[in-house]
Amino acid sequence: MNFRPIFLTCLITLSTLSSHARIRAGAAEQEITPRARLEIQHYFRKSIGVRDPLFARCLYLEDQLGNAVAIVGLDLIMASFETCDELRAEIREKCEVKHTLLNFSHTHASAALGPRGRSTVSNDEGSRWNDRTLDSIIAVVAEARKQAEPVSLRAGRSSVQVGFNRRLTNTGNGHVFMGVNRMGPAVPWVNVLVADSLRTSKPLAVLFEHAAHPVIVPHTSKLTSADFPGAAGKRIRDVLGSNVITVFGQGCGGNINGFPLRSTHEKAEEAGRRLGDASLKAIEDSRPIATSMLSVKSTTVTLPSAPLPDRELLAEMMDLEKNNGGRMKQLRRIQNLIKQGKQPPGRRFDAHAVMLGREWCLTTMPHEMFCQYELWIDKHAPFRNTMTFAFTNGYEGYVAVDEALALGARGGYEVGRLPNWGGQVYTRHLGPPAVGAEKIVKKALSSLWPSDLSPSE
Ligand SMILES: [Zn+2]
Repeated sequence: MNFRPIFLTCLITLSTLSSHARIRAGAAEQEITPRARLEIQHYFRKSIGVRDPLFARCLYLEDQLGNAVAIVGLDLIMASFETCDELRAEIREKCEVKHTLLNFSHTHASAALGPRGRSTVSNDEGSRWNDRTLDSIIAVVAEARKQAEPVSLRAGRSSVQVGFNRRLTNTGNGHVFMGVNRMGPAVPWVNVLVADSLRTSKPLAVLFEHAAHPVIVPHTSKLTSADFPGAAGKRIRDVLGSNVITVFGQGCGGNINGFPLRSTHEKAEEAGRRLGDASLKAIEDSRPIATSMLSVKSTTVTLPSAPLPDRELLAEMMDLEKNNGGRMKQLRRIQNLIKQGKQPPGRRFDAHAVMLGREWCLTTMPHEMFCQYELWIDKHAPFRNTMTFAFTNGYEGYVAVDEALALGARGGYEVGRLPNWGGQVYTRHLGPPAVGAEKIVKKALSSLWPSDLSPSE
């Protein structure tokens, strides 16, 4: 007899808890397509129109203790640490959101974002677009936060690959060159997180992540495009409904190219549909996340740059390149540092982990991280589901794994150093990160995760 009131009390307590203890989520989007005639990249060309629109989208998550994060997906190629720091500070101030993750899809048919008033797109219209885009990003974070409502979350994964590893080795001289390496490492899946409204029992947002350069759109096309991530989001919406906000996050796609490389807009849309279908399968197979606790951790370390060439090699290079202004400029910078007995500057590396108990973790990194990092995180992060972003909150080129960095001058575009001119020699670091960067990255990432328990399953 006495059990009944106690049981009722328990029920009331539980129901009070469950409505208050839920994770709340909100989502929003705004179009940010630059007008025709603006310079798009990469490579640089003046756009003459729009193939498909670019968006800023946000998924906002908060728990009952006020822990919160704004996860922003941008159909843009990149932004510097300076731009991201300033924008995140503005969001903190105007939207009262402490943690913002700005992920750049890295689409090569878009533009780069610059700091307010200091656009990287040179003309007046370009700077207007830049500052308007910054406003749009702030607005989607504010709107997503305003829309936040109790949700249930679920996470899943499905097999898919829209690209291949792009590093091949010349068996003759051991040099790495760019091509299609079907046997090389890649991230063969899409990860999804779905927020279902408790009010409507329908999904209000889908966060999905895959790792590959959005370079299926040809660099000769003068039409703005979100490339395959845009088409994937569209496919998800075609099935789940147009009111579902689809936020794409670019994974560790530094050494993965979408396939077929620089082919056609149609091929990019086809790859996107395939990624969208795989995401829908992952959504269908997803498992609920029971925890009501959200935590966000971050850390910053410095990745040292590879040592400068010795004086002898530098003298040889200066003789060889004496008629090449651009290369001589770099060589003189190196010469100055050597004279001063200095090392090239290191790369800033900020990592974040957004954790839902032991069930889900989004790990984010800046730069163009090699896919091996994502594979390593998935194997070692002690969570049931993982999701990984690179290209987040800042950008300063490629971060390879030590095995590739150790190739030195033979390392190819992402890793090569003098006497070979890889893509990294032209950065302010005058070369790639030093061998040993991989250990520093892995140590920084592991410091974010709980270490007291083994993975829950
Ligand atoms: Zn890239």
